[in-house]
Amino acid sequence: MLPILPGATLGILGGGQLGRMFTMAARTMGYRVIVLDPDPASPAGQMADLHVQADYTDHAALRRMGQACAAVTTEFENIPAASLIELARVCRVSPGAAAVAIVQDRSHEKTWLREHAFATAPFAIVSAASDLDAALALTGTPALLKVSRFGYDGKGQAKVSSVAEARAAFQAFGGQACVLEGFVQLECEVSVVLARADDGRCALFPLAENQHVNGILDISIVPARVADALMQQACTMAREVAEQLAYVGVMAVEFFVANGQLLINEIAPRPHNSGHYTLDACVTDQFEQQVRVLAGLPLGDTRLLSPVAMVNILGERWQTHSPRWETLLAHPAIKLHLYGKAAARPGRKMGHFNVLDMDSAAALALAKQVRDAL
Ligand code: AMP
Repeated sequence: MLPILPGATLGILGGGQLGRMFTMAARTMGYRVIVLDPDPASPAGQMADLHVQADYTDHAALRRMGQACAAVTTEFENIPAASLIELARVCRVSPGAAAVAIVQDRSHEKTWLREHAFATAPFAIVSAASDLDAALALTGTPALLKVSRFGYDGKGQAKVSSVAEARAAFQAFGGQACVLEGFVQLECEVSVVLARADDGRCALFPLAENQHVNGILDISIVPARVADALMQQACTMAREVAEQLAYVGVMAVEFFVANGQLLINEIAPRPHNSGHYTLDACVTDQFEQQVRVLAGLPLGDTRLLSPVAMVNILGERWQTHSPRWETLLAHPAIKLHLYGKAAARPGRKMGHFNVLDMDSAAALALAKQVRDAL
């Protein structure tokens, strides 16, 4: 494919913070950017050359966007596959509809992982309440019931310890298709963000160690504090996932570490929250990489320049007072990123900050201290 060079127009489906950071990276490199998102106040729309306010199923709007763009990518997994197919009629689209269709549905994703011999937590697909007995017998208790579609950040998930609880949770989710997963005793969680180009070239960012609170990412620590062999194995597995999906674009693979083993939790067909550390700590960040792979440019160097701890800033920080930015900004090696969201709701990702220190334990300690003082 001929590279799409600066001056051309790139498009992104979805206007949240990931789309915003893609837009900023693309504009820094001299591209024009069109964002499609129904929300008039979308974080990416504020940064774009043009914000098309339309639904992801509006094929006329999609076609118009595609005609104005040399290539289009996406910032979230819930774009209907039919919309990506429609767009691909008029411009280059990556990632492709086939890969997105697998990973946007937890049942398809888990089944695909099993068919391709990737280790996961024990799971069973639940299509009807009558599947729950056999499913719980397979996973054991406790287990997590997760909706197959549109769940994120621990939403659409319930921990259950009996068939009665599983039935109640399944009913509470409206009887929609779910996956029941065995609850795994986690040693830690890690993730790999990578980019794969259409000629198969792959570039991986360093492994991140991720700590969650209430199912939402709180802190990422890089380098991850795991053995080199495990790090290598995670990179190999992530690369194989990308290859076997014939994936083109930036993707993230999230892993559980349990009993010294890696289990794949989820695949995200886009840049990932656990890759935000790359914005300040790597030669190329994950959003520039998304621009490069979309435009068919050489992939950027993913080298880590400094150990780093990334902290998410959630809406609850605004509950009693505005965050004390001055305490954060007093530290010269902390980099603040805010997403331009007006309403701060609990659990909503409002921004993040990266703490850089050549001593990674010091970076983590300062990250926690500043998080708690905000
Ligand atoms: P998810 O949205 O599926 O990535 O889940 C959010 C978080 O919940 C994960 O990052 C884990 O911290 C936790 N979690 C999810 N599934 C499991 C599981 N099967 N066993 C233990 N913890 C889990």
